[in-house]
Parts: sequence; structure tokens; C-alpha cells
Amino acid sequence: MSSLPDTQQDQPAYRVERSSVHGNGVFAQRDIAPGERIIEYAGREITWDEAQIRAEVQGGPHNHTFFFSLANGNVIDGGDHGNEARFINHSCEPNCEAIEEEDSRIFIYALHDIKQDEELSYSYPLIYEGRHTPAIKKAFACRCGALNCTGTMLAPKPRKRKAKPEAALFADAVPALAAVQNPPPAAPG
Ligand SMILES: [Zn+2]
Repeated sequence: MSSLPDTQQDQPAYRVERSSVHGNGVFAQRDIAPGERIIEYAGREITWDEAQIRAEVQGGPHNHTFFFSLANGNVIDGGDHGNEARFINHSCEPNCEAIEEEDSRIFIYALHDIKQDEELSYSYPLIYEGRHTPAIKKAFACRCGALNCTGTMLAPKPRKRKAKPEAALFADAVPALAAVQNPPPAAPG
């Protein structure tokens, strides 16, 4: 999927590098203004059923699957023709938000001033339909470091699949999660 110019300013707004929160993260390459559109959450739009199949093929939600739910019931698979946005981490105190716009496209906006080198983050519940076993809870523990951190990235299980999850069925490799160290200063996604 092609991407729009991410910013009206000259310099790229973001870069990807290792995050102390979780695996890779996306960081501000320069100061970002409140409300600035930073990046599109790119990827192929697929049905929820297809997403489930893809997750299974990849060995379950522990593997690299980055599904972002859309209002129409489909999901964006950030692992299929996606871009750097899939590396934005969750935070319980985010500095960005994801907004679905026309044509089922999702864009990441700055919630407030973001300083250069700050990690970008947004808040999204991870929809995991399997049993929330202790291992799963551990794998998806939140280490965002925010004062109000809930300690988990998992959304409460929806009663029905049609209940349209607000955001994502997302997952990352367990080794990456296990490698996560101590809480960072503050982060995203
Ligand atoms: Zn947290």
C-alpha cells in the first residue's frame, strides 16, 4: 500500500529502533506537534476469519502478527505490506492515537507535543481469543512504565466476536517479549 506524505515538514518524523519497552519501537526523529499526522498504519485489509487463519499458520498470536481491527469488521494486517507503524508499542499513557479514516485507513496522530527521541506509543487492547492462561498473561504483560499502567496489554475477552474490538489482535514473538527489560521512561503502543 502506498503511503501519504507523513508530515508537512521536511524531516522524517520517526525512526525505528530497539525499544526498552518491547522489541522494536518507533521514535520521534524530531519534535512532533500536537495533532500532527505521523504515519499510516499500513497493511493489507483482510477479513477477521483470514486473520485467524494467518495467526494459526504463523503458530499463533505469539508470532509476528499485527492485526488492527477496522470498523467494518475486517482487519489491517500490518505484517502484510505494512510499514514502520506496526512497531509502535502500546502504552497505558500514550503520546499518539490511531484514528480510522475514510476507506478503512488508519493513521497515527500525535496526542500532544512529542520531543525528539521520545518513543511513540498508543493505547490499544490486544484481542486474544484463546484462553488467557498465565503464560499468555505473562507474554502480554505491559511494561510501559506509566504510573497508571494496567500491567497488561490484553483486552478483556469480548463476549462475541462481532463486538468489534477497538483495536488490534496483535502479537509479537515471545522471545522478544521475554527479552524485554525494565520499564522504560515512558512509551507507546
Ligand atoms: Zn502499561
